[in-house]
Amino acid sequence: MKDIEVKKAMDLEADRQLYNIELIASENYVSKDVLEAAGSILTNKYAEGYPGKRYYGGCEYVDIVEDLARDRLKEIYGAQHANVQPHSGSQANMAVYLTVLEPGDKVLGMDLAAGGHLTHGHPLNFSGKLYNFVSYGVDRDSEEIDYDKLREIALAEKPKLLVAGASAYSKIIDFKRIGEICKEVGCYYMVDMAHIAGLVAAGLHPNPVEYADFVTSTTHKTLRGPRGGIVLCKEEFAKDLDRNVFPGMQGGPLMHIIAAKAVCFYEALQPEFKEYQQQVVKNMKVLEATLRDEGFRLVANGSENHLLLVDVKNSFGLTGKRCENALDSAGITCNKNAIPFDEEKPFTTSGIRLGSAAMTSRGFKEEEFKKVGLWISRVIKNIDNEDEIKKVREEVRELTKDYPIVRD
Ligand code: PLP
Repeated sequence: MKDIEVKKAMDLEADRQLYNIELIASENYVSKDVLEAAGSILTNKYAEGYPGKRYYGGCEYVDIVEDLARDRLKEIYGAQHANVQPHSGSQANMAVYLTVLEPGDKVLGMDLAAGGHLTHGHPLNFSGKLYNFVSYGVDRDSEEIDYDKLREIALAEKPKLLVAGASAYSKIIDFKRIGEICKEVGCYYMVDMAHIAGLVAAGLHPNPVEYADFVTSTTHKTLRGPRGGIVLCKEEFAKDLDRNVFPGMQGGPLMHIIAAKAVCFYEALQPEFKEYQQQVVKNMKVLEATLRDEGFRLVANGSENHLLLVDVKNSFGLTGKRCENALDSAGITCNKNAIPFDEEKPFTTSGIRLGSAAMTSRGFKEEEFKKVGLWISRVIKNIDNEDEIKKVREEVRELTKDYPIVRD
């Protein structure tokens, strides 16, 4: 690469990825094949429209790619219709809102403080600005979704759309139950399965496609594809949805990313993908047990998926921000995260969020995740001891160097 400034930053990032333990629950490491497609000459092609109906010439080969992506995606989730063009998860959500809502319409979504996403109605996000979002949360004691309360709120508020799914919820979501509530209320039902899409693909989490009118997702979290978004829907909404993605909300699709999505979906259809997802859940169970044994309070008493919320305030009187920084110094990357009913500000928080998907992709198994849990404990219990944190940093470097960040 001739641009040495960018090259240098990229090399440093490659080193950071190699020598750190990546526990950000929304991240993953893609395969060599996904990387190859994402970095391919397909980036050169304009292809506004859809396969067979483009506004540009020369689309015959990218049509093959987009058809493969759509067909594979439908096969994975048993969906009637798929749109693989949204550039991101946020845009996938926007496409659904544009399809079923008018500005000002009421939407019921999960409270951000309880684990929902920005696009589920944050006042600074387009969703909160354009639509009238009201929210449901988790029960104060169990810290799990209270479905009876959710039903009560839905019946009282009568939203036009109910949005399920979350960014920081560690338990199985009962999509069937929420679907029944939507039927009773007579509202549209959208599930944002961004975090758990890989687990759903492997049959380790109930599939929302059976119950929801629309299912959105990112492709880069547990699904382990390139950065991007997708929407699945029932056939009756297919035309409207496609029109609201293009020309409604985007111009030309990113054909290199759609190719990388197609490769990711191919991988998700292989038997090894199920084994990978099973290992993600097993590894999280080991991390959960290790931290519990070390005296950490776990939100909702643990995890049933790939992520875990740890209450560092009520465990050790610390903030999420401080723990994130200390862990960073030890080469362990995670993010501070609000816990339900958090009294700290969003930039401080009482918790950290940990995920097992990325390090499982690099080959970490139960033994390594036990080490990770013990390192986290050592860092947090010695948060003012620079020497101890340095020692952990060296041990982390020694282990991670043997687990490559790009796999065949
Ligand atoms: N939906 C959920 C549940 C998410 O967790 C995220 C990202 O973290 C998104 C949507 C948005 O995805 P993107 O960052 O690609 O816009």
